Amino acid sequence: MNSTENTSASSANFIREIIDADLTAGKHQQIVTRFPPEPNGYLHIGHAKSICINHGIARDYRGRFHLRFDDTNPTKEDTEYVESIMEDVRWLGAEWGDNLFFASDYFEQLYAWAVHLIEHGKAYVDDLTAEQMRQTRGSLTEPGTDSPWRNRSVAENLDLFARMRSGEFANGAKVLRAKIDMGHPNLNMRDPVLYRIAHAHHHRTGDAWCIYPMYDFAHGQSDAIEGITHSICTLEFEAHRPLYDWFLQNLPVPAQPRQIEFARLNLTYTVMSKRKLLQLVQEKHVNGWDDPRMPTISGLRRRGYTPEAIREFCDRIGVSKRENVIDLGLLEFCLRQDLEEKAIRRMVVLDPLKVVITNFSDATEWYPGPNHPSNEAMGERKVPLTREIFIERDDFMETPVKGFFRLFPGNEVRLRYACYITCTDVIKAPDGSIVELHATFDPESRGASSPDNRKVKGTIHWVSAKESLPIQVRLYDNLFHSETPDEAPEGKTFLDNINHDSLQVITAYAEPALADATLAERFQFERKGYFCLDKDTASEGLIFNRTTTLRDSWSKQQKK
Ligand code: ATP
Ligand code: MG
Repeated sequence: MNSTENTSASSANFIREIIDADLTAGKHQQIVTRFPPEPNGYLHIGHAKSICINHGIARDYRGRFHLRFDDTNPTKEDTEYVESIMEDVRWLGAEWGDNLFFASDYFEQLYAWAVHLIEHGKAYVDDLTAEQMRQTRGSLTEPGTDSPWRNRSVAENLDLFARMRSGEFANGAKVLRAKIDMGHPNLNMRDPVLYRIAHAHHHRTGDAWCIYPMYDFAHGQSDAIEGITHSICTLEFEAHRPLYDWFLQNLPVPAQPRQIEFARLNLTYTVMSKRKLLQLVQEKHVNGWDDPRMPTISGLRRRGYTPEAIREFCDRIGVSKRENVIDLGLLEFCLRQDLEEKAIRRMVVLDPLKVVITNFSDATEWYPGPNHPSNEAMGERKVPLTREIFIERDDFMETPVKGFFRLFPGNEVRLRYACYITCTDVIKAPDGSIVELHATFDPESRGASSPDNRKVKGTIHWVSAKESLPIQVRLYDNLFHSETPDEAPEGKTFLDNINHDSLQVITAYAEPALADATLAERFQFERKGYFCLDKDTASEGLIFNRTTTLRDSWSKQQKK
């Protein structure tokens, strides 16, 4: 067990301990961190963890937080991704101010540093093919073998590298490699490739370059250029740290950033790899990157998540060195906790059953109901009651089971905010199905208060049949039915774990006040869950997404 387990992102953790020690040792005046996405996809909840760690440290140490795009791979990157990433980072509340950077802005400097390595006999142009390089790389147990081109003269290397840049060679014909040690126990140190030829258009530098630095050659040097003090990344980079440090030691860089690794976030019922998310989008298993079932930031936002809930989640999961899988229920718990305070209450019937209140007039009576049960400042709205109303089909049982306190023949219930009704008749179709109910109301119970202190056990929500608003509601379930969707049996893939019933679209009936809903608002449809307006609304009439149900399985589970 690691001593850094269960420490939250913003309270003490092993990363902050390192920073504190560095500050005590007088290594830095100001702490500088960065979030370094490659613009080759949309950000997901895992990236949110990295953003919260980096931004949280810069904030708490009164330092600087940089957003830097590591855009060294032109064939996979796109400005669409750059824009979505900026929107998502900003939405999460991680402001970078003037500190927006692109590794591509350093291409000229990186090239000069590659030349520097050649001049010092620490890099060479290699003609081996990718396949030959793989074959001569050795393994964990066997050393690699030197390339026949390893001992080219400095002059020849300088000439060839310049000609690589000028476009003389085809893709794959040559690479620039660091001259370190083909027998090094760490495979990343066996003469890693620094530059490859790619005659490809770059989303920012256009056609200025046909050679591009490898990620490892760009990342640490970019950190150094920006004066990043602590380069915080996920564990898969641990084995790259010796190389990261080798570049810093062998180049005249302006600073010596320190790389620190932490365990990436994994969530149950969720795939987090960008490659797999891209596949879900491209093969149309979901409706785009911002499909509300996606773990992308844009998907979560559309689903109705708040930045506060995501930040609270990142805080609770903390920072550790050990890989683990977090229960999706914890994320939902943080969400419910935030929405409980923020959500405006409304009544909406998702599965309507008509009730005729036979002793009610043809007039419409309006009853006030608070927008929030404990926050008066959120105001109130008025709800119309008419002779015909809708209630939820499952709030009625013709033959009630034990413990059922809602509507059944002869029983009295409270219509929230309005009055008491008693069921008098069940009207059925020839096939025996229930068409509607008849009920009477007690005029003395107007305002939903008991006239004679008589006990009514059930309170149900309802809407006026005449005055209600039909809305489209999208109900979501997990996109995968497996808790660990990445694990697929022999011959199957994660796609075989897709839950094909993850989206259900229904028509529901809402009280009229919901017509004024805006995209920024969050709602609790009483007794039914949290909902928000969907961005498709403008074109197709009111559409709501169910953000989450009211049921909180996570905190109950913790109490067991
Ligand atoms: P891939 O899914 O292909 O591995 P990536 O998500 O690592 O790609 P990057 O753009 O390189 O893509 O990620 C930017 C930063 O976010 C990196 O510093 C990376 O360590 C961090 N990051 C990525 N995934 C997670 C995760 N699941 N948990 C925490 N941090 C993450
Ligand atoms: Mg990565």
